[in-house]
Amino acid sequence: MWKILRRRRRGPRARSRTKSERAHYALHKESARTIVHERLEYWTAHYGVTYGKVFIRDQRSRWGSCSSKGNLNFNYRIVFLPPELVDYIVVHELCHRIEFNHSVAFWDQVARTHPNHAILRRALRSLSPSLVAGKVESPPV
Ligand SMILES: [Zn+2]
Repeated sequence: MWKILRRRRRGPRARSRTKSERAHYALHKESARTIVHERLEYWTAHYGVTYGKVFIRDQRSRWGSCSSKGNLNFNYRIVFLPPELVDYIVVHELCHRIEFNHSVAFWDQVARTHPNHAILRRALRSLSPSLVAGKVESPPV
């Protein structure tokens, strides 16, 4: 699971999406799905894992998550991320198919393909607030 903002989810009282937010999601959702499926195909072959359904969601607090049933959720805003960060998010969730926790064993799995994961995590954290606020419309340089 990837937290975008370091705050608790607001649950049922969270404000609903505006018309333009819904339109933004509708515009980019299928691109996000295409990218996610392409990278999932690549990395599942590498790790030899399986997964259930894939959902592309408009979430403010997470980049991705993996359910106990093996279903994967990804934030549609990954379309605005550089490819190495998308790969990291996909690998992170797939590694939860091996280790359903954030133990040392989990990070060892991530490090098999992303030994620089600490740097990638930091980059994601610094990007997240502006992405969520809709201020970033293209991948940062
Ligand atoms: Zn996680």
